[in-house]
Amino acid sequence: MSQSFPRYFNENTSKLKIINKDKSVFMKIIAGLLWLTKKMRFHTIDDFMTRYVTTIGCRIYGPTERGSWNMDMEPTSTLYHEMGHVLESKLEPVLYELKYLLSKKWRARYESICVQVEMAMFKERRTIKYADQRAPHFVPYGIPLETMRKELHDRVNELKAGNPHAATTMIVQSEGAWRAQLVQDRRRSE
Ligand SMILES: [Zn+2]
Repeated sequence: MSQSFPRYFNENTSKLKIINKDKSVFMKIIAGLLWLTKKMRFHTIDDFMTRYVTTIGCRIYGPTERGSWNMDMEPTSTLYHEMGHVLESKLEPVLYELKYLLSKKWRARYESICVQVEMAMFKERRTIKYADQRAPHFVPYGIPLETMRKELHDRVNELKAGNPHAATTMIVQSEGAWRAQLVQDRRRSE
């Protein structure tokens, strides 16, 4: 059997673990903290355990309600997006996490880069119209709508100009190499 993309990525691009959120005690603790900080009006995130995929370092925690999350899963736009966060954390150790948590501007930047990854993988998303549709989804993260729109517009334009961010390039290259290997494996088994 051919290797899944998550396994290929883990071996050739960057360390990666995909975990079901329900099975993680750590995620349950975070859910408690989020409940508290929501009361303190730091954000408006609801249903952390069921709606959100959460990535910390090289670990992606996915909710059962949104498919099955494991190292043999097929790549989806959400998985590509989260792989973007894995790479952001790898490219800027510690700083990424701090900037993401403490600055709305940086949070918008990092999230928009992960949307750029999706845009690179799915050409139909590479438009200003899509960027505008997507921007409101990040408002619950405490990012002002206009900030997010502007960031997403920049990401679309960078991609169109052939000048994407490092995380985007790394995922596109990794996925391309993985597909090439799949073709090779198929030829070998024929
Ligand atoms: Zn994200």
